[in-house]
Formats: sequence, structure tokens, C-alpha cells
Amino acid sequence: MKKLSLPLIVLMSALSVACNQVEKSTPQASKDSAASTTETVEKNSGPKVMADAATIIARKEVPILCYHQIRDWTGSDSKGARDYIRPVEAFKADLKLLADSGYHTVLPDQLYDYLAYGSPLPSKPVMLTYDDTDDDQFTIAAPEMKKYGFKGVFFLMTVSLNRPKYMTRDQVKQLVDEGHTVTSHTWDHHSVKGYKTEQDWVTQIEKPKKTIEDITGKKALDFAYPFGLWNREAIPELKKRGVRSAYILSTKRDPDDPLYTIRRIIASGYWSAPTLYKSMVESFH
Ligand SMILES: [Zn+2]
Repeated sequence: MKKLSLPLIVLMSALSVACNQVEKSTPQASKDSAASTTETVEKNSGPKVMADAATIIARKEVPILCYHQIRDWTGSDSKGARDYIRPVEAFKADLKLLADSGYHTVLPDQLYDYLAYGSPLPSKPVMLTYDDTDDDQFTIAAPEMKKYGFKGVFFLMTVSLNRPKYMTRDQVKQLVDEGHTVTSHTWDHHSVKGYKTEQDWVTQIEKPKKTIEDITGKKALDFAYPFGLWNREAIPELKKRGVRSAYILSTKRDPDDPLYTIRRIIASGYWSAPTLYKSMVESFH
């Protein structure tokens, strides 16, 4: 079911990257990272006031990469599927290139505070996200990130927990104990655009959030839309259920609700590490 829509996402992703390539960011701007937008940090006088949507949109975007499976391709992997399977050596090269280029990983708590309140981020921030609960994210991605002191964000579909080839609950708990963030990507990967009843929201949003919180002992406040697909009607439903931010793919953000349309790009299995790096720099500005 989730495989069927994948080519569509790839196409959307490719189009968006292509569009973004027209607007070249200056080397100055990409080097400057978040520093230029952090001088407006609120003074410690009284409660923090959340920035309005226009201010949030105007902040420099933090690059966010979206990974799925991390393993070598096999003969039975279809052409379409390979976009979502990052070969192990390519993944290792990605992290090395990011580390060698001076990037620091950030997590949703930091990104939220930066976007909503202007809190400072480390220089050259990047977010590494992993969707769909695949077990190689635990066995390959997590140890590789550890080499560089990187932390990642794991968006789980909770239906897959403890199933073969997916992460177990114990592994999820270990990721959180090691400082990574684990949060929700629905129960079974149905798009929010198709929810018809209150029960759909309970099944796909409320229960998975609670399941993850029960496993990790931490709040699961952030959310990634399956297939990156969202609509304006979904946003109040997410807010009502305690979701404070939501991640899309490389389509346009909602000017009125940028915290619920945070952009990511898919780390295509076909790209070399330098191509991924270039796409990242060009897509986020
Ligand atoms: Zn997914």
C-alpha cells in the first residue's frame, strides 16, 4: 500500500528540487547557517512569545534529510523502490561529508524553539530523519551516527513495531535512551488526506502518539505526514491532539502554518553523497 504512492513522491521531490535549483543561494548565505536569524532571541523577561507565521517563514530553513531503508540493493528491488533504499556505503559517505563540512545535527525540540521563538541553533544545523520503522535504521544508521556524535529523528508507523525487518519496542527505547528522538508517522501509513471519521484520527494520530510515549517515556509532539501529503483541514486536527509540529517533503510550506509544514528532502538511493549534499544546499535557503 505504501509502495504504490512512492513514485509520486519521488516525482514531487524531483520537481521541487529542480525548481529550487533555479534560485542559487550564495556561498555566503549557506555558510552563515542560522546565525543571522538568531539575534532576535527574546530577552528573559516574562513568557516567551511565539513568532507569527511570516517571521517563521522568513527564518533561514534548516536542511532536513529523509531516509527510509539503509541497505544495499538486491536484484528484487524495483527501480521505484531504489529511490527509498540508500546503499550502506552511500549513507556512510553522507554522514562523513556532513561531518567534514562542519554540520551539527539538531532535533525537533531545537528546531521548534528556533522556528517558534528564535532560539539559537549550532552552526551549520542539519536534521537527519528516518521514516517507516525499518530495522536497518537501528542496526546501521544509529551506530554510524554515533561515530560523529550525530542524533537522528525516527518517525515510526507503530503497526510495524516488533514485526520482522522492522524495529522492536526495545530498540526504539534504546534509541531514545541514546539521545535520539522517536515520534509518530501514523499507525499504518494512511495519508491524513483520507481520514473520514473521528475514529480515523484516533487510530492514526492519537493512539500511535500514546504508544510511542508509553515506550519511550517522552512526549511525541512532532509528526511526519505519510508520503509527505497534507491538507489544511488536517492541521487543526493535529493541533487538537497535541501535535506541535509536522513534517512534509519538499513541497511548498503553508504560509499560515509553517510549523505544520516543515520541509524535508528524500535522500534518494540513486544519488552519490556529493549529489545529495548539493541537492540539500540548493533546496533549503
Ligand atoms: Zn513513510
